Amino acid sequence: MFKNKKLKNLKLIDKQLTAKYCGHKTDRYGKIEAYGSSVKTEMPLRDGGVDYCLDCIGKMAIRCTWCGETIFIGDPITLYSTSTQGFQPPEYAIRYKDNQFVGCLGWDCAETGADRAGFWLPDTESNAGHVVTIRSMYSTAASDGLAISGD
Ligand SMILES: [Zn+2]
Ligand SMILES: [Zn+2]
Repeated sequence: MFKNKKLKNLKLIDKQLTAKYCGHKTDRYGKIEAYGSSVKTEMPLRDGGVDYCLDCIGKMAIRCTWCGETIFIGDPITLYSTSTQGFQPPEYAIRYKDNQFVGCLGWDCAETGADRAGFWLPDTESNAGHVVTIRSMYSTAASDGLAISGD
């Protein structure tokens, strides 16, 4: 009897992980939702744990400056700049720098996949998403994003 109980407990521990940065209990696989879109995701394991829970990862999603589509953590992004005088970005737009804004790689927003400038990834210092450019990915250890597949 005792042995069985112990095994059961071990199984439970294995299923739910405590996220390193946000401290919430979470499954490793699951669905995240934001702004009317959802994706299934698998958290990358780092030292046997995960950095964030699925809820927090969902809250780090942003919207494309140009079309308003959801950009989830791990999604590729563009960093187009606008030269339009007096351009008023939507309130949800994420400014990368100066007049460069974060956009999605959708058909209406990116001319080609080659315009991919980086990825939207968690920032381990401020508990929010941030831009990791492809160039900087090669020099930072925190660059292995989440594996995200369409719903
Ligand atoms: Zn969390
Ligand atoms: Zn877009």
